[in-house]
Amino acid sequence: MKLHHHIYIVIIIVFQVTCIFSQQPENTRNLSKYATNQIVDDAVYQNLHPHQTVQVIQSQNKKVKNVILIIGDGMGLSHISSAWVANKGKLNLDNFQVVGLSRTYSHNRLITDSGAAGTAIATGQKTNNYVVGVDTLGNPLTTIMDYAAKAGKKTGISVVCRLNDATPAAFIAHQTDRDLAEEIVSQYPASKIDFIAGGGMKYWKNRSDKKDMVEVMKQKGYDFAVNESELFSIDKLPALAILADLELPVASIRGNLFRNMNQKAIELLNAENKNGFFLMIEGSCIDDWSHANKIDKVVEEILDLDRTIGDVLQWAEKDGETLVIVTADHETGGLTLLDGDIKTGTVKVNFANQSHSNVLVPVFAFGPGAENFAGIYENAELGQKIRNFITDKHQ
Ligand SMILES: [Zn+2]
Repeated sequence: MKLHHHIYIVIIIVFQVTCIFSQQPENTRNLSKYATNQIVDDAVYQNLHPHQTVQVIQSQNKKVKNVILIIGDGMGLSHISSAWVANKGKLNLDNFQVVGLSRTYSHNRLITDSGAAGTAIATGQKTNNYVVGVDTLGNPLTTIMDYAAKAGKKTGISVVCRLNDATPAAFIAHQTDRDLAEEIVSQYPASKIDFIAGGGMKYWKNRSDKKDMVEVMKQKGYDFAVNESELFSIDKLPALAILADLELPVASIRGNLFRNMNQKAIELLNAENKNGFFLMIEGSCIDDWSHANKIDKVVEEILDLDRTIGDVLQWAEKDGETLVIVTADHETGGLTLLDGDIKTGTVKVNFANQSHSNVLVPVFAFGPGAENFAGIYENAELGQKIRNFITDKHQ
């Protein structure tokens, strides 16, 4: 081979390496702790334990007193379709009569992260990737939790992930870097959220600043639970439950823990319900397992969230004054459902990548006011629509 061919090849290699490195900051940060460096080939999963679903009817002509927002992190339409096939052709999600589509791009990226997307939903304003609860200049934004508290409503957060993770952080904290775990936790006392449940004890105790944030919350009047039975014995707000050092156990191991957390949240928030409540529930690890391209765990997390959706819908049907929204902050994994069998609950899928994508995500709405969520809109507009029911603009 002649010398100039060598030079040519070297230039191509340098160019390609440069391209890879120029993309690396975003790709690296989008990879979760579960991700590997391999794109997985078509994967097959069979669900051997399909759950029963409920049937509910939407009440008419009532006011919205309570809002329950359920976020499936990374849960795109292919995720839902896969879960539907795996559950033998039925989901509690099937009850929703009103469906919309949300555009998820952030202020500075076509492909959002959970920080920017969560902030858009929580504040009604798009912002840059990797920040939580602040605008593009780093200024703190008023969140829906603040609006709810101002309207005299009780507020709650119940998540599978660490309480400092991007989605819950977007609702309670104001940070220019979503990875500032201890700093985010330090903002929980000022958030005045009435019910807080999730994981991430690591960032509440044994911190680098030596502060014991659980003690700080107790001094503020919070009842504290470190496991499920302690959580059940709590009978008043405010309440804080930190049920794992990091994330909660995976869906196949945690049994009814997440369902029970969410039912407890509704029970406590509704008991002090003069002006209603706002509750955000997140099926957080759908995203992590989509990053890792593990379809079995992805489907199991969605089916666990669907069990909660069934509980919430039954409660909301009886209550009649509760608006229920189910959505995703973005799609993860570029998932496609290629084949499967509804009779056996088997799916065959392919993930296009280990990161997020830009496809529209669904918004499902149930209860009074649901019709406002039909159509195609920005994720920030979704946040504004929800906020309008908190601040009474529709009523
Ligand atoms: Zn993600």
